[in-house]
Amino acid sequence: MSLPEFNYLSPPDLKAVCDLLREFKGQIALCAGGTELVMHLKHRLKSPGYLLSLKNLPDLKTLRFDPEAGLILGAMCALKDLSADTRVKSRWTALAQGAEQVASPQVRNRATIGGNVCLDTRCWYYNRSKQWRSTFPVCFKARGDQCHVVKGGRQCYALFQADTVPGLMILKAKLKIVHSDGERMIPVEAFYSGLGETPNLLSDQEVLTEIHVPPLPPRSGTSYVKYKQRSVLEFPLLGVASRVTLDGEGKYCREAGFGIIGHSSKPLLIEAGETLNGLDEPVLTDDILEHLLREVKPVKHMGVTASLKRRMARVFVQNAFSEAWKQARSQRADIIQEES
Ligand SMILES: Cc1cc2nc3c(=O)[nH]c(=O)nc-3n(C[C@H](O)[C@H](O)[C@H](O)COP(=O)(O)OP(=O)(O)OC[C@H]3O[C@@H](n4cnc5c(N)ncnc54)[C@H](O)[C@@H]3O)c2cc1C
Ligand code: SF4
Repeated sequence: MSLPEFNYLSPPDLKAVCDLLREFKGQIALCAGGTELVMHLKHRLKSPGYLLSLKNLPDLKTLRFDPEAGLILGAMCALKDLSADTRVKSRWTALAQGAEQVASPQVRNRATIGGNVCLDTRCWYYNRSKQWRSTFPVCFKARGDQCHVVKGGRQCYALFQADTVPGLMILKAKLKIVHSDGERMIPVEAFYSGLGETPNLLSDQEVLTEIHVPPLPPRSGTSYVKYKQRSVLEFPLLGVASRVTLDGEGKYCREAGFGIIGHSSKPLLIEAGETLNGLDEPVLTDDILEHLLREVKPVKHMGVTASLKRRMARVFVQNAFSEAWKQARSQRADIIQEES
């Protein structure tokens, strides 16, 4: 498959990026690792006048630690580096596990955390070649007037499936977004619109530059589990991250949260502190699961029925919770001391 024609821009710094975004408003596609963007170009899902590469901005590739702020990631930090870092693995485990489960080692070498956060929603009818799509009437996401997933549906139901986002949500991460007149910091969960057609709230003059992930309180553990059909090169049918903070002795649950993707166009953050406070073992009853998952309302998508997805959501929430609990209990004494 060939690429469409475009002009290539490779600015040397962030100011030049913002100036170009303002000058060629709406005509630029930002390229990080390109692992999603290039497929979109080849499928003619995007035909930008300009492709702006972010690869010459070394400041965006950082992965650094700050005692107060926690983990600071440049948007161009490669998923390979993120998943291999021992401090990220031990302290922000769900994030490292999410990064490690994206695609394959080859893809993770190029793919970036910023590209993952800004990933488009996906659909079996949309993420196809132009020729394949031409055999179906044009759907909402391609500016048509119908949806092939939900017949008679009045919106796009494409799925949000970025593996690092559940972990970032439960870790209370914030995104730094820059434009020519300034910058803003927003919680990850506030970045997503819920619309299948335009899943995030980034304007065409903005660029994601950093992700800040605060330290967790002592006696905390996190985990990410992914429901997929094959072991590699597979987007999540469901992805669930869990965070648990136990009391000082590691016996009772004090605080907990879950992040879920793969069920709809919007990643879902469930803060469960009130529901799970005081729990003395990592076992979620049917009633608790029912309550936690009341907003998970999948539709039949990509060959998976809604009822299977609902059942799998219960299993994966339980599994992620047990893993996070185990990790919180086994947290090394030196880390607890260092962090308290
Ligand atoms: C075979 C295959 C399998 C895959 N499997 C998975 C999977 O299992 N899980 C998963 O999560 N993903 C998967 N992906 C998708 C993709 O590889 C990853 O999500 C990756 O992290 C995207 O990062 P990137 O740097 O390559 O993004 P790019 O392709 O460069 O960009 C993706 C989007 O984000 C925008 N963007 C990138 N950086 C910025 C920025 N700093 N500011 C603003 N906008 C930005 C781009 O304009 C584009 O719209 C797969 C891709 C392939 C090809
Ligand atoms: S969910 Fe429906 S509208 Fe959205 S991309 Fe798929 S077919 Fe198109």
